[in-house]
Amino acid sequence: MKFSFNNPVDIRFGRNVLKNNPGSLSLGKKAFIVTGSSSGRKSGALADAEVELRACDIQYQIFEGIKNNPNVDQCRELAISASEFGADFIIGIGGGSPLDAAKAVAVFSTNPCLTNEKLFMNEFDTPPLPIAAIPTTSGTGSEVTPWSIMTWDEFNSKKSFGNLYTYPKIALLDPSYTDSLPKDVTLFTALDAFSHCFESFLSLKASPYTDAVNLYALSRFSKCMDPLERGELKDIRDDLMLVSLLGGVAISQTGTTMMHAMGYQLTYYYGQPHGKANAIVMPVYLEEAAKYVPDKLTAALSAMGLSRNQLSSFLERNIPADFNIKSNEPAFWGKLAMKQGSVKNLPILVDCDYFTALYERIFKSRIV
Ligand code: NAP
Ligand code: FE
Repeated sequence: MKFSFNNPVDIRFGRNVLKNNPGSLSLGKKAFIVTGSSSGRKSGALADAEVELRACDIQYQIFEGIKNNPNVDQCRELAISASEFGADFIIGIGGGSPLDAAKAVAVFSTNPCLTNEKLFMNEFDTPPLPIAAIPTTSGTGSEVTPWSIMTWDEFNSKKSFGNLYTYPKIALLDPSYTDSLPKDVTLFTALDAFSHCFESFLSLKASPYTDAVNLYALSRFSKCMDPLERGELKDIRDDLMLVSLLGGVAISQTGTTMMHAMGYQLTYYYGQPHGKANAIVMPVYLEEAAKYVPDKLTAALSAMGLSRNQLSSFLERNIPADFNIKSNEPAFWGKLAMKQGSVKNLPILVDCDYFTALYERIFKSRIV
């Protein structure tokens, strides 16, 4: 047996997390806060952070307007504002979009001449500014991963970067920040967290350590499935945030794999929310996994107490692939999926045609 595990994030979890951890945002003297148009305020996290910063005499400037699936060029612009303000650390508040944007702003702040190509190859010389991350969705686990997923128009899709420097220094998780999430966003983000645990468990880079994390998270997630389907969310907010955290810890080591590599195109070309895009891909992913890693698939499903058919029908019931795509897209998207680094984490060798055929299987009669 041989593996390594290195996740350097200081994790604090629980209701009233900011109040109960005074000084936790003291990563410098001037903070640049990046958050979404509404998530910071609706969740209550921004107000709590402001109270904490004022108590610590830390100056701050707020940018409220990170778009979903943040654009790399918007983050480059924001880094200029952060530098003009003199920020010496960044606070990300929101779903995965603002948290990922915080990482890009932190990198561009210390590497102002970095090209997008170099960013996505992780070729930056100066370490980014320190980052504090406060999630307001239970999905991406970005608060504990080094990964940042950006929309990159020249690449015609989404692309990730991340290395040991881009981990947040501290993650502050308070499940009550997700109380304001609408039902559909709760479901989609929960499915993203679930997809992280599942992909990580089946990844080529899985270790006994990540397996333990993922099996526990999968069993916790399975208990949330009925309430998620019924929209009875109050009592599962804590569990969903825990699953999201554990999935993030796991993918920080193993990366994601096929659902993410294929799902990005559904987001970029058809605006599908990230977790929904993964879930649309999941039934064929499960069919493929049954061929190439049957034992691991069985272990994941038994941790959940479900058969493959039960899981697939949950997904198809709640997340139908209910839009048409163009006939040239499966082949085009197959090429884009192959360019994702996460493809290397698949335990089988694949090519563009493999992904093209999978897109065709997912959309069948919806290809027009
Ligand atoms: P998101 O794009 O951050 O947010 C989705 C929507 O939820 C936004 O409209 C946002 O509103 C709203 N929202 C967020 N928190 C809310 C709250 N507490 N109350 C009410 N509304 C709230 O969604 P996400 O699924 O968390 O993040 C998706 C992004 O993360 C994608 O770009 C994906 O590729 C990336 N991702 C990153 C990782 C990683 O490891 N870094 C892993 C997986 C996915 P506002 O916009 O108005 O604020
Ligand atoms: Fe994801």
